[in-house]
Amino acid sequence: MGKDRELTKLKNSIVKFNKNFPGKNLVFSDGNKDAKVMIVGEAPGRTEDKLQKPFVGRAGKILDGLLDSVRLDRSKVYITNVVNYRPDKNRKPTNEEINLFKKLLFKHIKIIKPKKILLLGTTAARAVLNHIGPLNEIRGKWKNVKIINSYFDILTTFHPAFLLRQPGQKKSALKDFLKFKK
Ligand code: URA
Repeated sequence: MGKDRELTKLKNSIVKFNKNFPGKNLVFSDGNKDAKVMIVGEAPGRTEDKLQKPFVGRAGKILDGLLDSVRLDRSKVYITNVVNYRPDKNRKPTNEEINLFKKLLFKHIKIIKPKKILLLGTTAARAVLNHIGPLNEIRGKWKNVKIINSYFDILTTFHPAFLLRQPGQKKSALKDFLKFKK
């Protein structure tokens, strides 16, 4: 089956979880499905829910700026989130939601088959690396991780929304992006 068909099939299987997020829109992905780089965030916010695209609000501007600093843009990356619907009042996804959506995220990764994956923040690190401690324990470190039946090189950095609250950490985030680009 081709990538487009597999992605449509996956999207259709996620649609049924709309019942857990009444009134919210599916935010599936943005960017280039053939990109070597896949970026995984947490969950959509208000703007993402409205426009049905990940990282198009304030956090998205920070992400675009960081990508631009390492000469990447949405034509060269593929972007998705752990949870594909906006949790009410922008709360963090629950562990149950993370566990439910991570199976779908793993299928998503298998379909895209990126060379490298960049995880943004604690929810993505929890879903993909099973990491539950402070982000600093793993931030900026490459991991080689088995997902379904293939190994992927994965780097974790801060979530852009965290950088909005802690702009002093932007330098470290940029270092991570440079490391990722190399
Ligand atoms: N935060 C995320 O984790 N994902 C988005 O798409 C937007 C904000």
